[in-house]
Amino acid sequence: MPTQSSLDAMPRAWVEVDLAALVRNARAITAHARARLIPMIKADAYGLGAVPVAGALERVDPFAYGVSSIIEGEELRGAGISRPIIVFTPTLLSDLPRLRSAGLTPSLESSESIHAWAALGGGDWHLAIETGMHRAGIAWDRVGELSDALRACPPAAAFTHYHSAEADDGSLERQERRFRDALGSLPAQPALLHAENSAATARRQSSPWHCIRPGAFLYGLGSGETAALQPEPVVHIRAKILERRQVAANETVSYHALWTAQEPREIATIAVGYGDGYRRHLSNVGRGLLAGREVPVVGAVTMDMTMFDVTGHGARDGDVLTLLGRDGDALLTFEQVAAWGAFSPYELITGLRQRLQRVYSGAQ
Ligand SMILES: *Cc1c(COP(=O)(O)O)cnc(C)c1O
Repeated sequence: MPTQSSLDAMPRAWVEVDLAALVRNARAITAHARARLIPMIKADAYGLGAVPVAGALERVDPFAYGVSSIIEGEELRGAGISRPIIVFTPTLLSDLPRLRSAGLTPSLESSESIHAWAALGGGDWHLAIETGMHRAGIAWDRVGELSDALRACPPAAAFTHYHSAEADDGSLERQERRFRDALGSLPAQPALLHAENSAATARRQSSPWHCIRPGAFLYGLGSGETAALQPEPVVHIRAKILERRQVAANETVSYHALWTAQEPREIATIAVGYGDGYRRHLSNVGRGLLAGREVPVVGAVTMDMTMFDVTGHGARDGDVLTLLGRDGDALLTFEQVAAWGAFSPYELITGLRQRLQRVYSGAQ
């Protein structure tokens, strides 16, 4: 939280990204897994800004970065990132030349694409093995069909992806067995194997594979209370109170009159709404922090503004309300805020729009 003197210079609402905490999370999960790190910085580092996030993560000497598109990889190359950048989403054959000229590493899954990559001059690529998610990759029981292509152009790595790593439902173990079966039918073992996302890493002890691929954990999203490792908060969403009003008993607040004052209440308005990614599902159920104490959202979240009941808090215009993150000893996590609105914490973080200015700290 900025000091009062620096506060006037802040915009009316912003997202603080604590890059020092991000780096500590990266170090913690790498040490916990005892494996090399492939930070997933796809989707603009989950909305936090891929270039500043990668710039900070350079300090932990990651093995590579993970993205989901050629454009994301090109942005990082343009910012001077020289480590391997792996594109984890399948690439059309017609896009492989562009991926190659950007110096990116594809994940491939068919004889056709492996031969096409070899014909372009090749270079490192990762074999995507599908073990139950049915999203991308060659099916675990069909890798034998790739034998000729794999002999002609062997992959630098092979990987799979778990669909329910945050649950103790046996699915991770089943997928891992399928992955091991598939590896057993490859003509040669790739030098690197990787499988684990944040939840798979944080809920287990050390990794059985060479690299881990966390995204969420780095950005402060936990993998459940029972996880062996918990992240530090990285993101703090703040907004200044712009206006306050006394609302009389039986008056309603916001669209569709979803909230009615039972008695006279003091209502504060901030300039954050669903147009900033503060989801409409938080209408009447979300909470913020004012001087470390919880204050409830009242009425519908609107596109540009949201109202909070600040009765009895001695609030003044310009006071900072925290929508997510730390305020004094109080903390609102992504999981907590998302649970109020019954949506995914991943959608909350990746849905924060650019109108909420990003303010970075701890860059060095
Ligand atoms: C997004 C993604 C990850 C990271 O998942 P988190 O749950 O954010 O840790 C890892 N691997 C692949 C292939 C992904 O698409």
